[in-house]
Amino acid sequence: MSEDVQVDSTSEFFRLHEQEFGDDPIAVRESDHYAQEYVGGIVDKWDDLIDWQRRAEGEGRFFVDQLTSRGVTRVLDAATGTGFHSVQLAEAGFDTISADGSPQMLAKAFRNGLEHGGHLLRLVHADWRSLKRDVHGEFDAVICLGNSFTHLFSEHDRRKALAEFYSVLKHDGVLIIDQRNYDALLDGKTTGKSTYYYCGEEVNAVPDHVDEGLARYKYTFDDGGEYFLNMYPLRRDYLRGLLRDVGFQRIETFGDFQETAGDREPDFYIHVAEKS
Ligand code: SAM
Repeated sequence: MSEDVQVDSTSEFFRLHEQEFGDDPIAVRESDHYAQEYVGGIVDKWDDLIDWQRRAEGEGRFFVDQLTSRGVTRVLDAATGTGFHSVQLAEAGFDTISADGSPQMLAKAFRNGLEHGGHLLRLVHADWRSLKRDVHGEFDAVICLGNSFTHLFSEHDRRKALAEFYSVLKHDGVLIIDQRNYDALLDGKTTGKSTYYYCGEEVNAVPDHVDEGLARYKYTFDDGGEYFLNMYPLRRDYLRGLLRDVGFQRIETFGDFQETAGDREPDFYIHVAEKS
């Protein structure tokens, strides 16, 4: 590091940039914009938002069981974020590579890996749409969790990203990808507040604007910090259709980790898509 750049701590580094949505935030509907959203304070705050312990309780052994039952050993966490699933997988003994397109999220993930069990996460800075440029080798499973895929705003980008996930999988590999239940939000059946993922007690996460092309969420923290994410509201069957189109043969969709959610609208859908 050069002498004129003084970085006292990781938090200081995160404060070097803040979110930028311009004069007309609801006009921001671009796949590239995520890199400007996961910066600054929201990166620092993300783990308050998702409260690791409560999230682990909410998810239980769902993902580990899905992977273990298929004999998976090598996993690509394509949307590492701050590292929650990468750490869980490392704890469970999976050979895991952790990728993300946000350098600041990766930096936080690395620190979290050390703090939660002393894991040296193997990190790769990669965008899904050009994954194979930076991620090498084949995987038994790719995971893309925490409502990450919602950051892609064009169908072209979605198809490209899924095709990249497909191509890094072994012939019998599995993709596990989740999404918020946007159908319920778009159809007015829910207020959009989540139980499983956004479960930190010190944060209020609510939709700020919703239309068929944008779900803009506002996250307000106890300390007064306010952050936003602009996301594309994927419909469940649309994503299942895309998975089928890129070649996945069997797609099972769970609502909040259950095969059937009963009468209640699930907060999240999890698609388990098998290549063969
Ligand atoms: N999976 C983590 C979790 O569940 O806590 C992180 C979820 S966070 C909502 C979404 C992550 O996806 C961010 O870390 C963001 O940088 C990453 N991301 C969004 N679009 C991406 C893209 N096109 N390529 C790579 N990463 C992307």
